Amino acid sequence: MTHPTSVDPDLEVDPRPPLTMPDFEAMNVEVLSGVGRAKARALASVEVESVLDLLTYYPRRYIDRTNQAAISDLEDGVEAMVMARVDSVFSKKLPGSRSMVNVAVSDQTGRLRLVFFNQPWRDRQLSPGQEVVVFGKLDRYRGQHQMTNPIVDLVGDETGRIVPVYPQSGKAGLQTREIRRWVDEALRRSAQRGISDPVPEYLRRHHNLIGRHEAIDGIHRPESMDAQYTARDRLVFDELLRLQLKLIMRKRAVERAAFGVCHDTSGKLVERFTSSLGFPLTGAQHRVIGEVVADMARPVPMHRLLQGDVGTGKTVVAVAAMLTAVQGGHQGALMAPTEVLATQHYLGVRSLLDDLAVPAFDSLLTERPLRVALLTNQTPGAERARLQESLALGETDIVIGTHALIQEGVDFDSLGMVVVDEQHRFGVEQRAALRAKGSQAASPDVLVMTATPIPRTAAMTVYGDLDVSTLDEMPPGRTPIATRWARTAAEEAEVWEQVRVEVGHGRQAYVVCPLIEESDTIEARSVTETYERLQSHELAGLKIGLLHGQLTPAEKESVMALFRSGAIDVLVATTVIEVGVDVPNATVMVIVDADRFGIAQLHQLRGRVGRGDQESTCCLLAADAVGIAAERLRALVETTDGFELAEADLELRGEGTILGERQKGRNDLQLASLRRDKDWVVGARRAAGEMLDDDPDLQQHSELRAEVELLLGDDDADYLMKS
Ligand code: ADP
Ligand code: MG
Repeated sequence: MTHPTSVDPDLEVDPRPPLTMPDFEAMNVEVLSGVGRAKARALASVEVESVLDLLTYYPRRYIDRTNQAAISDLEDGVEAMVMARVDSVFSKKLPGSRSMVNVAVSDQTGRLRLVFFNQPWRDRQLSPGQEVVVFGKLDRYRGQHQMTNPIVDLVGDETGRIVPVYPQSGKAGLQTREIRRWVDEALRRSAQRGISDPVPEYLRRHHNLIGRHEAIDGIHRPESMDAQYTARDRLVFDELLRLQLKLIMRKRAVERAAFGVCHDTSGKLVERFTSSLGFPLTGAQHRVIGEVVADMARPVPMHRLLQGDVGTGKTVVAVAAMLTAVQGGHQGALMAPTEVLATQHYLGVRSLLDDLAVPAFDSLLTERPLRVALLTNQTPGAERARLQESLALGETDIVIGTHALIQEGVDFDSLGMVVVDEQHRFGVEQRAALRAKGSQAASPDVLVMTATPIPRTAAMTVYGDLDVSTLDEMPPGRTPIATRWARTAAEEAEVWEQVRVEVGHGRQAYVVCPLIEESDTIEARSVTETYERLQSHELAGLKIGLLHGQLTPAEKESVMALFRSGAIDVLVATTVIEVGVDVPNATVMVIVDADRFGIAQLHQLRGRVGRGDQESTCCLLAADAVGIAAERLRALVETTDGFELAEADLELRGEGTILGERQKGRNDLQLASLRRDKDWVVGARRAAGEMLDDDPDLQQHSELRAEVELLLGDDDADYLMKS
């Protein structure tokens, strides 16, 4: 493609259509006059190869020069920005491989000293004569004014009032002002043809969005900070709209293509089950079972995520789903990530299903007992062979197990319902493998359970291709778990005393440690060491058990069995007990080095207590937690609501970790933030859904469709869909 090197926007209108994203993608950055081989290589190292990549390489922040101060105006202790010239640079080694770089800068009003500790590269970055923008707080050292470790941007002689600062990679040899120049050139050369806007006018009006050309211009060359915000809004909406179009299109395509089992939901088995429970369902359980059963009756395979905080009663929902399959003559399978959890689910489900009988299809009007089995790698050979045969013949109704379920040789007569517990522990392939155990003709329905709730708008983005059911109500009569954070030795001593008191009342306790072995880099206390110390000191005389990941499954199970039976008072464990372990008599959870855990994990661990009718406590031991770690612990102390904590987590960590679980590879979300842009997520999802209702394949919006395909490759989407 050839372009005039400069275009006067007042010339007559170019007859060619406006430039689209695919047009920009087709132009290599080398078409820009300042970009030669070397710079192209440097840009490629930050993943900028096409002009499209460059135009979507957004400024990291902006220097608002209307807020600029003169050196003589700076006040002690107040943050400020000054633009100045470098006069001298002087670097000095300090004892212990530390270093200090001293830089003198000045403007028309005065001089200022900048001091950088342990940033030896400043010596290379800065040289006399350079124009720099310095952000920092003025302080005083031996009576002299200085800024210590300020932020410094090399700006050159910029004239604009708002100067964009690009993420620049020193390693790549790119400077923010070069990038600015290239972006400028690209925009100048696009001015005549213009940049196409594929988002329908009605949507732009409804959401008060500026045009795309104006937005791309405004994000790179804003006239004011406000202009940059409106530009950002528009581009955020575009990113989220593309993502939602992709997710919803894929979801609907799968629904059209696949055949599911049409479950007969008219039987009475689920009702009989729920009325045998000895407690009424919560409103949320009732609603969610309704959602699941309605899905199961449909001819398309269900693909549903069940999220609910620890203790909201997900198991009851899972069992209801499996029984819905069973009453129609199919089978159900529940897969858990570990031996301990599978066994526990098995025991729990068995006790829930006590005495439940199912219609016997071979002899009318009779009933037979429901058959539930456990299959793990510990299942002995002969028993395993028997079980496999009975599964293949359809004699076993419900099987619960580990990934042993997806091994060769495990075949079902008619697998109708697959429940996967704690989805993030399984790879996508493992989930697909279990689903593939269904018959050729019809895919089983899939319900994925997770106890790590994520905020609603994040779920729309991360799980936008799944239906989501949420248990947002605790069964009544739970005594809330009190959480305390012990910071001092005296407070820690109180914690161990409390453990003794509880054990004295016949209760049990967990002590959780973050790591099994001492490592060089991390000084976490090893669980074995803690175990030995507690046994000889703080908890001497109590019966203490030890559970960690290096025990064999049989050893683990036997420790768990002892704890369940009450033969052990205190279980010292690593996070192997993180999920699902259910011992209602345990009333104290002590978490050692709690600052080393994430919010979700701490919340999971805490959920191991408070499962009976006794008041329970969670004690967080963390003597020197500061910053974000301290914020996390404070959040845990303040609330036990998993959704509130998920919001707090999102605030503290950003969305990277949430997205990271599912969205790897090329990610179109450059600007959009699940934290800041919640309303845009909701708006984009609604817009995408409505657009696809009228135009399922985006035939009427082919440019938008091309963009979705360009920016959200099929690999990414396949990855999204498989889970
Ligand atoms: P989750 O898996 O969501 O953490 P569980 O399914 O393990 O929760 O249920 C936790 C406990 O609550 C179990 O002992 C279960 O029998 C009980 N339970 C479930 N639903 C109710 C309810 N509606 N009312 C009272 N107790 C319930
Ligand atoms: Mg559970």
